[in-house]
Formats: sequence, C-alpha cells, structure tokens
Amino acid sequence: MNNRVPDRTGHFGEFGGRFVPETLIYALDELEKEYLEAKENKEFAKEFSFLLREYAGRPTALYLAKNLSRHLGIMKIYLKREDLLHTGSHKINNTLGQVLLAVKMGKKRLIAETGAGQHGVATATVAALFGLKCDIYMGQEDIGRQALNVMRMRLLGARVISVKSGTQTLKDAMTEALRDWVTNVRSTYYVIGTVAGPHPYPEMVRNFQSVIGREARGQILNKENRLPDYLVACVGGGSNAIGLFHPFFNDSTVKMIGVEAAGLGLSSGKHSASLEAGSVGVLHGSKSKILEDKFGQIKNAHSVAAGLDYPGVGPEHAYYKEIKRADYVAITDKEAMDGFRLLSQVEGIIPALESAHAIAYLKKSAKYFKKAVVIVCLSGRGDKDLHESY
Ligand SMILES: *Cc1c(COP(=O)(O)O)cnc(C)c1O
Repeated sequence: MNNRVPDRTGHFGEFGGRFVPETLIYALDELEKEYLEAKENKEFAKEFSFLLREYAGRPTALYLAKNLSRHLGIMKIYLKREDLLHTGSHKINNTLGQVLLAVKMGKKRLIAETGAGQHGVATATVAALFGLKCDIYMGQEDIGRQALNVMRMRLLGARVISVKSGTQTLKDAMTEALRDWVTNVRSTYYVIGTVAGPHPYPEMVRNFQSVIGREARGQILNKENRLPDYLVACVGGGSNAIGLFHPFFNDSTVKMIGVEAAGLGLSSGKHSASLEAGSVGVLHGSKSKILEDKFGQIKNAHSVAAGLDYPGVGPEHAYYKEIKRADYVAITDKEAMDGFRLLSQVEGIIPALESAHAIAYLKKSAKYFKKAVVIVCLSGRGDKDLHESY
C-alpha cells in the first residue's frame, strides 16, 4: 500500500487515467508540465500560501465542538472549519492554486462547471481578483435551487451559462465545460472543481486541497498531543475528503470515513452513492466508480445537497476503497437535514447541506465513536441552503 499515487500516467491502481478527445491530449500534457514545474517552484508556493493566508483566511480553526460531542456521547469531535473561508467553502483553496497556473500559462479566460454554485463562485472570485474573463456552466435545475450563488457569480463579473441538456445538473454542466475547452483550448483554462476529470486534475486538485489535512494534522498534535482516531468527510467528487485524508495516509492508526449521499435511499435508485452502489466505468475523462445503467448510460444522481449530486467520484477514492484505506458510507437526504438542524442548534454553526451528511453520519453511528477523537471536515457554510430547510 502506498500513497505515491498516481503513477506517471495518472493511474491510482486501475482508476484515473485520461479518456478524452485527441485535441485535449496536448492541452493536458501542457498543463501537467506547467503544474509539475510550479510544484517545484518556490515563488509559486510562496504566492499560493500568501493568497491562502491573506485572501482566503487560512489557517482555518480546528474547533472542539464540545456541545455536539456531549450531545452525541462521543469523546471529542473536532470540526475543521473550511466554512470560515472566503466564499464559504473549501473550493477557494483549489481555485486559487489553479488561477495562479492559468496566469503563469498566459490564459485570459477561465471556464468552470458548478453544481451547488460554490465552485462557480470561487472561480468567479479568483477571475475578478486576477482580471480574467470567466464563464461558468451550470445546470438549469441547479440555477433554480442555488439562486443566491448565481447572483454572486454575476455580481463578480462572470457569465453564468445555463445548461439545459440531460438532467440539467452538475454532470451536464461538466460535459458542456469540457466541450467548450475542446473548442477554445488555446485561450482558455478549465478550472475543474473537484478531484475528478482527466490526469493531471485529480492529482493537482488533491495537492491544492491537502492544505486542509496538513493543517489539521499539525493542529490536532498541538491540541491533543496525538493523532485522531477517525477522519470523517462528505464525498461528492471527493476533494474536501481527499484534502483531509491524504496527509494522514501513512498514519495507519487513523481511520478514514467518506460519507456519500444516499438521497431518497440506496434502494430507491435516487442517490449519488457512486462508491457504495456504483460500478467501474468512465466519466468526464477518467475511470472510477460511476452510476450507470445496464446499457452503460449514466444514471441520474440525486441528493438534496447540490454539491453531492454527481454520478461519479474522484479515482483516488475508488482506489482508497479498493485497498481498504478508507471506508465509505451513505446518508439520506432526511438524515442530512437532521444533521443540518442539529449542528445549527447545539453549536450555533449552520453547515452546508453537503457537510451535514458527515455530521448526520456521526449521529447515526455515535455508539462506535464513544471513546474516539474524531476530526470532521466542515466543508462549507449553510447560508446557501436555508431555503431547503423549510
Ligand atoms: C462542492 C462541495 C462539496 C462536494 O465536493 P467535494 O469535491 O466532494 O469536496 C462538499 N461540500 C461543499 C460545501 C461544497 O461546496
């Protein structure tokens, strides 16, 4: 078992790789070369950490949620407060890293896909900061349920392009963004919002998000003088989870649990649990676990949390599951809504509905964690979700 993945072809075991039209191979090679260079470049690292600190608000707190711990009968629950970041979620960590690359590569236009709108907002934000043109692809259905984020993106100067194909959600937005990139690859940088897509995106986004786990590891050693027993995070594409997990990979006593969206229940077929209930296949340029029917058509995902409503998952999670480095579980819409209210009422912290899945899992399985020190990634804040709770 090793964490020196992916290999040079972008494979995490059998997962990952590059399944894209020929026209994108050159662009991906160029991106990979620029990224590998930037990774070794001290100036780049300095600028990235400057922006994370001064602009985004890092380091984020590792907060001991005493009330929640007492309420659930769990020894210690720490919340890694990504909800406190500028723009309201962990997405800004990744968009700051990628915009620096885009600028380095001389690109003048950013495109991105978005589901909950958090990645769209984070991309529109860095585009404004660096004076770049910005087009955001978003499913018509998501535009309806995330109106506040649509207004934010427009105010920031981005164009929000409504995607009316398929289920009009995240998967269709990502398909359209890839199509745009194929056409405009010379002028345009495609900012993927999670650890999915063709190599080198899953590796690159993981490395940008790993600041979450690196900070959390230092903070828990400081506060407890020991490592945590468990890490818990929600999994949509998987970027906040892998960002927390990756720096603990070699700490074999630390168990990792990823929480997918069970939607209306796994047996209903209306869910987004690609790891729990999916099969091996190719979606958006890489091989992973995906939701498809017996004819190989991508199935409609469902979750009350728009950020989890995606019929695939990053290849590194498929790998973690296969080598049993992490366990994956699923939480229903209803359980997540209970988690949303619970954290709001006992700690005065309104979580994103996505993060509420992780809270709900702790509630449901509290008896297993009685004597445990747990770190939960609070991936975002819930202001965007208030309309879902009434
Ligand atoms: C986008 C989003 C997610 C899901 O994306 P991951 O890549 O799985 O982290 C989770 N929480 C919030 C708040 C989000 O905005």
